[in-house]
Amino acid sequence: MKIGIIGLGLIGGSMGLDLRAQGFPVLGVSRRAQTCQQAIELGVADQASMDLSLMTDADLIVLCTPLAVMESTLAALRPYLSSDAIVTDVGSVKEPVVRHLSPLWPNFVGAHPMAGTAESGIEAAQRDLFVGRPYVITPHSTTPPDAVQKVRDIAIALRAKVYECSPKAHDRAVAWISHLPVMISATLIAACMSEEKPEIIELAQQLASSGFRDTSRVGGGNPELGMMMARFNRTELLRSLSCYRDQLDLFIDDIKQENWLAIEAKLKNTQSARSFFVEKKD
Ligand code: NAP
Repeated sequence: MKIGIIGLGLIGGSMGLDLRAQGFPVLGVSRRAQTCQQAIELGVADQASMDLSLMTDADLIVLCTPLAVMESTLAALRPYLSSDAIVTDVGSVKEPVVRHLSPLWPNFVGAHPMAGTAESGIEAAQRDLFVGRPYVITPHSTTPPDAVQKVRDIAIALRAKVYECSPKAHDRAVAWISHLPVMISATLIAACMSEEKPEIIELAQQLASSGFRDTSRVGGGNPELGMMMARFNRTELLRSLSCYRDQLDLFIDDIKQENWLAIEAKLKNTQSARSFFVEKKD
């Protein structure tokens, strides 16, 4: 199976490295000539071009561009695709992508490999990025099962853990565990930067250690990606942000009222609940 990858950045580049290592021939298309040249030098693709006609020979094409250009990219790609080619994507939001791209190509399968780093671009591509990480496939009622199986095979080749759910369920779940954390982490950094006394902010920067490193990590990542999460998953993100604000208000009230027992009880609950999101499933 010949794989086509469009958008040779962190995700597309990392996928190319691993799929080539698994013996799949990889054809890459990206926006800039320099990226295409780097793709060959770094071993991300066997051939790379800025021209979508390179995808004529591909059996399965993975759209790894920013969310905002997925639809226009597939529209421009269609004339070059063989009729049985399968197209999938890696976008972090699924409902609008599946709704807009499925009518353009019957063999389209929405998907989201949930792996990343704070970096972006082809230089950030790395081997084994997807190993042990969730790879969510989000078919809808008319997605051909054979096409879903091919995307599943690719996810397994990347040694990811495959999950399947509806695009809507995906977007609501990732709002809680991925998109909301980006906004909380970003606002944490912004709140710290609002400290009025320069000597205090300087001291805080010197003292920041592992706790701040963990809680600020996702707020210090790729700004374009965070903006796209907010833009394309707006409804679910607003719902989770508003619940978060309610929780924050409850903490503020408890602290104002010196309700230390209530705070300790809440922290006991969150201490045990956390393990269901992280350690217990490993
Ligand atoms: P990235 O590192 O910025 O890579 C995107 C690449 O797409 C850029 O390097 C750019 O290549 C290329 N590109 C932009 N517009 C293009 C176009 N019109 N045609 C062809 N190529 C184009 O971003 P990323 O983190 O890999 O994210 C890519 C996708 O993965 C997004 O849809 C995102 O939602 C999804 N995703 C990201 C993460 C994450 O944590 N980073 C995780 C899961 C899924 P040039 O260098 O040629 O300009």
